Amino acid sequence: MQKNVLQAININASLISGREILKLMAILWKPQGCSIDVPLMREKRTGHVNLMTKDNWLWRKLYDAARSVQNSRKISDYVEAGGVAAAILSSSGRIYTGVCVDTCLIHGICAERNAIFNMLTNGEQEICKVLAVMPNGKTGAPCGACRELRVQLILAAYKDIEIMLDYEQEKAVTLGELTPEWWIG
Ligand SMILES: [Zn+2]
Repeated sequence: MQKNVLQAININASLISGREILKLMAILWKPQGCSIDVPLMREKRTGHVNLMTKDNWLWRKLYDAARSVQNSRKISDYVEAGGVAAAILSSSGRIYTGVCVDTCLIHGICAERNAIFNMLTNGEQEICKVLAVMPNGKTGAPCGACRELRVQLILAAYKDIEIMLDYEQEKAVTLGELTPEWWIG
């Protein structure tokens, strides 16, 4: 545990020393926004989906994408995966998924950060919407680490990222509402 704390302190120290750089990046970075093309919306507009708003239709796609990869399983005596699944809608309209990986040490990852890394691996970086499905099928709020990564990815526009808190109640919030003040900014 002590080692973990020391590692955390080292990470924080490096972030603080880069504060001015991050502020400069925030000023220089010009987000392209999260405009989703209408054709994306139309391509699967059938049946009950027609009754839904554009936003709800996108949330449904995210929910279904997350559920499609959710598969809780024991990988080994030390690793479990798939209990929580997440889906991200990027500014290009693509959806990236990820599942949680739990280990007996610090090597695991949340589903949301796994989905973000999937997005980065595929050359994208702008997040529009995020949805995470818990083992009970309900959606949940992101942890602090997942919020922090999103902030650092899109410092100038992170507050606009939409997060589904309660899929059944159709309650979504922005990351700005969840994290109004950044600890460095
Ligand atoms: Zn997390």
